[in-house]
Amino acid sequence: MTSLASRLAEVDERIAAAARSAGRSPAELTRIVVTKFHPASLVAELHALGVRDVGENRQQELTAKRAELDGLSGLRWHAIGQVQTKKARAVRRAADAVHSVDRVRLVDALERAAESGDAPLDVFAQVNLTDDPGRGGAAPADLEALAEAIVSSPSLRLVGTMAVAPLEEHPAVAFERLAAHAARVRSIAPDAAAISAGMSHDFAEAVAAGATHLRIGTAITGQRPSRD
Ligand SMILES: *Cc1c(COP(=O)(O)O)cnc(C)c1O
Repeated sequence: MTSLASRLAEVDERIAAAARSAGRSPAELTRIVVTKFHPASLVAELHALGVRDVGENRQQELTAKRAELDGLSGLRWHAIGQVQTKKARAVRRAADAVHSVDRVRLVDALERAAESGDAPLDVFAQVNLTDDPGRGGAAPADLEALAEAIVSSPSLRLVGTMAVAPLEEHPAVAFERLAAHAARVRSIAPDAAAISAGMSHDFAEAVAAGATHLRIGTAITGQRPSRD
């Protein structure tokens, strides 16, 4: 096995173990491999290993890799980074799901970017679990308004809630708060049952707290090439 294949297999085993110890089925979980900063060739290698869900945090990189790998069947591209409003159209064209929808202005921009014949775009409402507005995510007090704006946008489909655990807090504590925020979102959109949470260092805690979509980079890809 290549080292990429063995890291992927090892992470998948750890995900399955975390699911079992939380009394959940691994089949409920979508493992997204975060490939940001890596070349498109790594995504192609992952695809050959059976990976179908990949995550990118920058629009230009997402757009370029998607175009380069157009021939690979069944790949789903997840936009997971902060989206500038002026990039909404390009993100809509390149992403199958956007995890980082965190303000009504972005909801409106994504809605305006829909073209006739577009399938509804899957989006997550991102909530900020820190007190730092720069980290991305809606302030918890703004979450209902955000969810309502998504629900009233015909070209968007609210699938769930997303967050990143703060660095300065135990992830289990932060993910408990996230579970409560996700319940608030479900009170507005009962079908929006997904929870996007968990990265290389905290996916087991995220699974224990109910995450359905794990965004895992370095534990699978190895260290990212540095970028500016
Ligand atoms: C980079 C990134 C990840 C993956 O982080 P790792 O620590 O490499 O697993 C997950 N979510 C977001 C939003 C990211 O930007």
